[in-house]
Amino acid sequence: MALSDAGRGPPIRATRRVFVARIALLAAGLPGAFAQAQPLVPRTGPAVYAGPLFDSHLHYNDEAAERYPLADVLGRMQRSGVRAIVANSRPNDGTKALAAAREATRRAGVTVVPFVRLYRNRADYSGWHADPSIVEMVLRELAAGTEAGPYRGLGEFHLYDSANADGPTARRLMQLAEERGLVVLAHVDDAAIDRLFAHAPKARLIWAHTGIGGAAVERVRSLLTRHPTLLGELSYRPGLTEGEGRLSPAWRALMLEMPERFLVGSDTWVNSRWDDYEALMQQARRWLGDLPPPIARRIAWDNGAALFGLPPP
Ligand SMILES: [Zn+2]
Repeated sequence: MALSDAGRGPPIRATRRVFVARIALLAAGLPGAFAQAQPLVPRTGPAVYAGPLFDSHLHYNDEAAERYPLADVLGRMQRSGVRAIVANSRPNDGTKALAAAREATRRAGVTVVPFVRLYRNRADYSGWHADPSIVEMVLRELAAGTEAGPYRGLGEFHLYDSANADGPTARRLMQLAEERGLVVLAHVDDAAIDRLFAHAPKARLIWAHTGIGGAAVERVRSLLTRHPTLLGELSYRPGLTEGEGRLSPAWRALMLEMPERFLVGSDTWVNSRWDDYEALMQQARRWLGDLPPPIARRIAWDNGAALFGLPPP
């Protein structure tokens, strides 16, 4: 069924081409003032999603906090129409700073959903899954909470070898998430998704990048079908778009089939992603524009808002 949808192609795009006509150089040979090109119709483009965005994968790491003060990053979010963020930073100070900036975030119209990052430093990226001190740190952070309220999730964490999904700390944290209703943000491959759910079948898990290694769309579909609490975050997802940043037919078909299972994210893991923040959000708006507007809104905002019980923006 999904494949026949894909075969039909995106109907919205075809009807909204850019038709910006310009006066030719009518005045060739005449004084220069007449040679100015003028648009004859207002500029309109292909459909672009214009509603609120929930950025479900945002880091405000220590090197970013040095270069981009809070007012700066909030300005980038505000200009991008981002109305809520999952904040997870290395170390957790960046998330706490965002959570503590109650007045500034309110003025920017941005709701902060804090997650506990598992990493105190770069070394923790590869060893956390078997390190009991990470569990201690997570429990301490959860007990302390933030000025924006309790932490709502754990992560982002990475597993460079899917077998490490069975590490003692990985297992314990999945169980903790399930027990406490925390959402997990995991940058892992498709095999690790099954392993993580084996520890905690009812945990809610956001799959960062929905498989950055490019798991086949069919494989993504089968994992989403098997694990009803799995959601896919779509930054860096290979094959998501094609041509001039438009949604690929196979992904469009999957989103039409499972619109409640996807989220948008920026993944500001290095400072250059902050430089590009507004362009990244604009790219998301472009592919979201290839979906029927209610489905675009669902993926852009509603799914994230529902996951954390946020009111409409
Ligand atoms: Zn990330």
